[in-house]
Amino acid sequence: MKKYKIVLLSGDGIGPEISEVSKKILKKLAKNHNFEIEIIEKLFGGIAYEKYGNPAPDETLEQCKKSDAVLLACVGDIKYDSLERELRPESGLLKLRSALNLFANIRPVKIRKSLLDASSLKKEIVENVDLIVVRELIGGIYFGKPRGHITNTKIPKAFNTMVYDSAEIERITEIAIKIANQRNKKICSVDKSNVLEVSQLWRDTVLNITSKDKNISLSNMYVDNAAMQLVRDPSQFDVILTSNLFGDILSDLAAMLTGSIGMLPSASLNNNGPGVFEPVHGSAPDIAGKNIANPIAMLLSASMMLKIGLNEEEAAENLETAIDKVLSNGFRTADLADGSAEVLSCSEMGDKITDEI
Ligand code: NAD
Repeated sequence: MKKYKIVLLSGDGIGPEISEVSKKILKKLAKNHNFEIEIIEKLFGGIAYEKYGNPAPDETLEQCKKSDAVLLACVGDIKYDSLERELRPESGLLKLRSALNLFANIRPVKIRKSLLDASSLKKEIVENVDLIVVRELIGGIYFGKPRGHITNTKIPKAFNTMVYDSAEIERITEIAIKIANQRNKKICSVDKSNVLEVSQLWRDTVLNITSKDKNISLSNMYVDNAAMQLVRDPSQFDVILTSNLFGDILSDLAAMLTGSIGMLPSASLNNNGPGVFEPVHGSAPDIAGKNIANPIAMLLSASMMLKIGLNEEEAAENLETAIDKVLSNGFRTADLADGSAEVLSCSEMGDKITDEI
């Protein structure tokens, strides 16, 4: 029997609630699909800062490195916003990404037919949306040096550096090619090469690498136009390939096409070693502790973990089919409620999905 060791980082806010649901479902899937899953829980984010004064303790990072995959819920709370930047929960995320060398972030955005009316855009605009954002995750302006504040000037200044070398662009382009080849073979590379030198290198490198694969059709788009096109005609996209900053913004925009941020999973990967699978949403402090969060983004992240991280495709299919069934039977959590549906709590939604597995 196959055995997997995964690390579960429940983090902060709604994290523990959606993690509880995921644990239960992963255990049932393991039983039904004949594999063993050891779930090791570690502190990460604000809760780890409370205990160890560090949002990403070494012990947590070491355990993640030794695992087959990491399932992360979410971190953060307004109460940590006044801490020094490196002690904040969100800095823990950057440390985890760096420690595991997770240079590729993958966010699928697919409309589930039963949720067509949940989108804030017209049904006919979103009904065929099925795209993936491939975002470079450990380079660009979030990591570029030098960075900092200049205080010895008349007026305070602050600055960051947006920098990529061609090797960083090549490896993320190769991931996008791999994914596009499993889909419609279309890559749209998003940059701002009309203004930024770093984007010109991005564009030239992407063209160079993609031209080696004759199956791939490449288009380029400036980031401002891409934002507009994502709300005007999102179904034109198959794979969107972009840098860290632009990907951060565009993937949240794309997320809202589906109606709720509570529905979107993501995977952060490197070429070998464990990936981190996590919902796109944050810790939702406004609803934490109320048992009303939508656990589906976390469950879809668990599904990506089963498929990509553990090669347990059938279990992943089983989970996604169960989610679709519960949604098409009209059950919703509060974030998706449209007046006609039966509104379930987080744990009740978990139970309904578990029953369908
Ligand atoms: P958020 O995603 O936590 O919440 C935005 C809105 O969406 C809120 O109204 C929230 O209630 C709702 N929401 C989010 N997830 C939901 C779910 N599963 N079910 C139902 N509703 C849901 O974003 P925010 O409010 O900007 O940030 C809150 C905290 O989370 C901050 O500290 C932020 O830094 C952190 N954050 C963490 C991550 C992460 O862990 N990867 C990502 C984004 C933000």
